[in-house]
Amino acid sequence: MVRFSVFIVCALSAFLNVSNVLAEWREPAVVRQEIAVTLTPSDHLLVGESTITFAAGTRGVSLKLSPAAIVESVTIAGDKIPFSFAEGDLSLDIPAKYGQGTIEIAVCYRAIFNDPLPLHPGSSEDPTYGVNGAITNRGTFLGYGAGWYPAPSSTPRFRSVRVTTPAGTEAVTAGKRTYIGTNGAFSHSSWEEQHPVGGLSLCAGPYRIEERRVDGVDLYTYFYPDNASLASRYLDAAAKYLRLYRDLFGPYPFEKFAVVENFFPTGYGFPSFTLLGSSIIRLPFIIDTSFPHEIAHSWWGNAIPVDHSEGNWAEGLVTYLADYLLKERRSPTEGRDYRMQLLADYTALVTPDTDLPLSAFTSRVDPASRVIGYGKGAMVFHMIRTEIGDRAFFGALREICRDRLYRSTTWSDLERAFSRNSGRDLSSFMKQWLTRPGGPRLTLSKVTRRREGSGWAVSGTVEQSSPFYELRLPLRLDTDGPPVRELLQVTRGVTPFSIISATEPRRLLLDPETEIFRVLAQDEVPVTVNSIKGSKQLLAVMTEDCRAGEEIFKRLLESLGKGKTTVISENMLDTERIQGHDLIFCGIPKQRPQLPPFPAGITIHSAGFSISKEVVNAPDGLLFMVLPLPAPSGRVAAFFRPLSAAAAEQYTPKITHYGKYGSLVFSAGAIQHKGTTPASAKTSDISF
Ligand SMILES: [Zn+2]
Repeated sequence: MVRFSVFIVCALSAFLNVSNVLAEWREPAVVRQEIAVTLTPSDHLLVGESTITFAAGTRGVSLKLSPAAIVESVTIAGDKIPFSFAEGDLSLDIPAKYGQGTIEIAVCYRAIFNDPLPLHPGSSEDPTYGVNGAITNRGTFLGYGAGWYPAPSSTPRFRSVRVTTPAGTEAVTAGKRTYIGTNGAFSHSSWEEQHPVGGLSLCAGPYRIEERRVDGVDLYTYFYPDNASLASRYLDAAAKYLRLYRDLFGPYPFEKFAVVENFFPTGYGFPSFTLLGSSIIRLPFIIDTSFPHEIAHSWWGNAIPVDHSEGNWAEGLVTYLADYLLKERRSPTEGRDYRMQLLADYTALVTPDTDLPLSAFTSRVDPASRVIGYGKGAMVFHMIRTEIGDRAFFGALREICRDRLYRSTTWSDLERAFSRNSGRDLSSFMKQWLTRPGGPRLTLSKVTRRREGSGWAVSGTVEQSSPFYELRLPLRLDTDGPPVRELLQVTRGVTPFSIISATEPRRLLLDPETEIFRVLAQDEVPVTVNSIKGSKQLLAVMTEDCRAGEEIFKRLLESLGKGKTTVISENMLDTERIQGHDLIFCGIPKQRPQLPPFPAGITIHSAGFSISKEVVNAPDGLLFMVLPLPAPSGRVAAFFRPLSAAAAEQYTPKITHYGKYGSLVFSAGAIQHKGTTPASAKTSDISF
């Protein structure tokens, strides 16, 4: 199944002001905040009033608000108070006459929010699409970063929001819904958070609302009319995953859970609601992939916010507990394949200049940061679980959910919980995985087998390049009888081993179940779309066979993260250029002496192409194929072959989402074929 996580992974980190949450626990400076806003979508206008109660002893106040806002008044007990407002910072001193008790400050303001909406949303690697605040007739999205309400520098202990919209438009935000109703030309709703976490986001649109109460939690869908029929499926799935995670981690930590539709293709997980784009909600597999991912964030990242000072651990943990764990529960093979995919993605997409240690990952900004923060992070949690066992691993997660709810949490906090629950000091184990970029590079070397007595011995070395990791590396010897498994303690560059078997050895495998995070050798990585995304030197070539304009070809390059690639025409391609680069062709070049042969089963003809004997001639067909250039170059060539400009326009944005595949065929509006030729590794898999 294709994972569309590329464009539906949440970016909640951008919306949580973690240092503020930390400050809250030292000094709860804000007692409560009430926010009342009226939205006028036809004018992109928000008119708001917020009352903020500060703790006794507060002398000065600083609030963040959209720099574009107009602040109409700031009052204390009905008295207008002088203030300054510049570059989004609203500050004032509190006159001494207001005494020693708590101080209630009211701010009246208005602002226009009209960020441009994405034109080609399918092909962005930026999960926000650059939209922080948009109040439009199609819908409203006001992210925390937009400054749609005056935000104090620490999170209040209680927060409420009242929203007024034109009748027919419904709003949704964090917290328990305490009122909903329509009065004449206006709709109203009220929301209350007993445990506010970080900043607030708000959405509104012509929603149809469905609701259900399950195990004491209010579940809602806020869907546009076109998707309203999907509501019951989403409510069923929400109930299923909330129960699954409640059993694993402890009670659901918020007042409600709402699935909210967005008018551009986000995948945000906010405290107590998730915001999924219209096109995403309709994708049939989302309900069992991205959706549980966002639900798992309710605990990890939302109720237990990330303290970014040691890096963002939440994406790795949620990838592990949702995207991965659900596969593992279906079958061990699916779990193993997923882990191998994480290693292949890392190896294909991360280059030395885009690599970073997990301790420096904050949020996804490009393919490399995604496979580090999500993929490598997930593998680190897998290795912890393998080291300490399920009981200690899930026991630690439950302990954190019990003891650290609504408190910012670091990698060190997680490490302490895993250490405590396993009775082992994991500090040096964690240090090597969190503070170093890259990963171990491991190969089998000098492997021989010989008869020994009545049985056999297979010996050799495991080699790793510097810096050395300390690992317990699984080896498996397949024989004519049962396989022999060994855990080899690897600490340095060369580690010898010898494995005895009673029956004849046939094959030796390094980490056969993919338990360890490592950088794969070139021959272990299948050639895929990701190989192009991770290319260090790519050259794009327009051929005479190209049936798309250069503009669409460039859009394809941009969606693959290769927008700066030089585009030349076929007649400029010479031997020298071929040698120095990976190549991507629009169309099939006339001269292909140095290019790879097409794999068996794929033939190109002037009208179209055939794949597995299926002929695609219709103008709406498109073939995308990535092949290895002849060994030992290690380079690749991709062929982008739309059968018409319209097909190129339609399918180009989709290609980037099929990163793990080496050949793709689109026609009749959908993907028809996706395939990958497996790699044939000699460095981790030796047959006798
Ligand atoms: Zn996420």
